[in-house]
Order: sequence, then C-alpha cells, then structure tokens
Amino acid sequence: MAERIVAAVAEIAHIEGDKGKTLLALGIRDSSAEGCPACKGKFTLGETVVLACGPWEGMKYIHESEAVFDKKTAMYYERRCYQAPK
Ligand SMILES: [Zn+2]
Repeated sequence: MAERIVAAVAEIAHIEGDKGKTLLALGIRDSSAEGCPACKGKFTLGETVVLACGPWEGMKYIHESEAVFDKKTAMYYERRCYQAPK
C-alpha cells in the first residue's frame, strides 16, 4: 500500500518537474522510506520533500530546504552536492 503511494508520487514528480514537490501528508512512512539522506533525519507529516540527486545513487527524497533546484537540468540536487566544485 505505502509503496504504491510512493511510486505514484515519484511519477507525478517526474511529470511535473520543478513542480514535483511532494507533501508528506500523502502518507510516506518510516516503513516505506529510508528517511532523509541529506540530514539523516526522518520525514514528518506535512513537510515538503523533493526528489533530488546527491552523493547517493539515483534520486532520493530529501527535505525541500536541503535541496537546490537547477534550472538547466530541471532537477533538484542536494545542497552540499550542488555547491561542490566540479
Ligand atoms: Zn532532511
């Protein structure tokens, strides 16, 4: 059940790009999410999360406040990762 919700959210985020912010009120729970890889914290109902690239594989949900939106690629990046020199 919970996994299906997450999958649907990911699809929405993919389609809407920079508008793909996700309210956790949708029901992502500790049992179905690893928590936030950016701050190592757990998600709380009502927080806004985004799918972001970072020092992890693929894209993961992190708090919006820890992400930077890159207009060139239309994707979110974990803040520290984004600021790192290339
Ligand atoms: Zn976080």
